[in-house]
Amino acid sequence: MRYAIFGDIHANLEAFQTVLADARAEGATDFVCLGDIVGYNADPVACMDIVRELGCPVVKGNHDEQASEDSDLAYFNPLAARAIQWTRDRLTQEQKDWLRSLKFSRLVRNFTIVHATLDSPASWGYVVSDLDASASFSYQHTQLCFYGHTHVPRAYVRDLRVNEHPATSLLIEPGKKYFLNAGSVGQPRDTDWRASYILYTPATQLVEWRRLEYDIAATQAKILAAGLPERLASRLSEGR
Ligand code: ZN
Repeated sequence: MRYAIFGDIHANLEAFQTVLADARAEGATDFVCLGDIVGYNADPVACMDIVRELGCPVVKGNHDEQASEDSDLAYFNPLAARAIQWTRDRLTQEQKDWLRSLKFSRLVRNFTIVHATLDSPASWGYVVSDLDASASFSYQHTQLCFYGHTHVPRAYVRDLRVNEHPATSLLIEPGKKYFLNAGSVGQPRDTDWRASYILYTPATQLVEWRRLEYDIAATQAKILAAGLPERLASRLSEGR
């Protein structure tokens, strides 16, 4: 058994298809989605269809929430707000209902998944420091939890205290707890434009982060053709 754990797809079909092909080539048997299927890029429906066909566990992201409601977008940054409105205009009521039905956190086998934080999953805070991770760890009842939202692959490990580890690969050790960010499939923000996701193999307790080049030019051309803000295309190349 090997899990492919991915999130922040953000309607980037080329990046998502590349991740799924790599995961299958690496022997992934199970798929897990950390939320934010839609938003920013131009293929929300195709990406949602794929996730639903996988039939995998999914948690709700803040863009999934916003795209499925008619709430005021005043508190979103203008780029995100324009993309959310564009996305709302393309989803059917059934698709919005499905997004709205997603839970904030879930137990998968013996690990937890959440989009943003475990201490307040519906508030969409960002875990970017040892302190943020400590708050989340106090609500983590499994040894492992996978999250997203920051679009930056990262590993927090709680032993006697909380430490950050490089998001390359790590072995799960007894007595420690892990809060692991899979990075973003469709809009990485660690200045590396390549799609990011995690492979987790329970039998060996190995967690590996994968980074993959994809057809970014095709994604950018679709963004421009859709009339979405030009900045949403250019930021992809910069990985921010
Ligand atoms: Zn996101």
